[in-house]
Amino acid sequence: MVLASAEGGRPPSPPEELERLHARVRACTLCGLHATRTQAVPGSGRVPAEVMIVGEAPGFNEDVKGLPFVGPAGRLLDTLLRQIGLSREEVYITNVLKCRPPQNRDPLPHEAEACLPYLRLQFKLVQPKAVLVLGRHALERMLPGVGPISRVHGQIFVRSGVAFMPCYHPAAALHNAALLDDLQKDFDRVREYLDQLLRGEPAAAEPAPPTTDPEPPPEAEQLSLI
Ligand code: SF4
Repeated sequence: MVLASAEGGRPPSPPEELERLHARVRACTLCGLHATRTQAVPGSGRVPAEVMIVGEAPGFNEDVKGLPFVGPAGRLLDTLLRQIGLSREEVYITNVLKCRPPQNRDPLPHEAEACLPYLRLQFKLVQPKAVLVLGRHALERMLPGVGPISRVHGQIFVRSGVAFMPCYHPAAALHNAALLDDLQKDFDRVREYLDQLLRGEPAAAEPAPPTTDPEPPPEAEQLSLI
């Protein structure tokens, strides 16, 4: 997937490229979800950005408004960001899937596979130092094989110099208050990591614990982000 050059031969700026990419997502018909969506939800925020946040898929509110994380889970995300000194305007937020699955069902592998090139392009434009991976579905797609979210949340997985940090999805914490404390601690860990980077002291990735999980399926291997 290649984005067109700007008019007059000038290379497009990252924000221009992002806006063109968003337009392509809004017109996308690559998988069956285009037929049931109200509108696609490409993402929101700035490029480049130190922090990129990736969830699973748009829900009801996002499908109506065309923006990611605008329902109750989005309000919790805003609060968590505020508590670590970040605002929605300072980060880039998107989902693995850009269109809402009917009745918020789980994304299907072929839908995620069709949509992943958009996420890869967003990642290249955002150039994040840290990627918050929200929820088990985003984790399975972006860090296949590292283990379940219940075990790896709050850990740092460095891939090509970028820190990927799995966290529980805010929607899960809204349904299970016991997860909220973990979520807040994980966001504190994000702040610590960014502070270390600002001081020129990159934090070492935490070693992933030994896993007894089965090998990820071949399609999961193909879907990793970088
Ligand atoms: Fe296109 Fe992704 Fe929407 Fe499917 S989910 S129609 S691949 S934008």
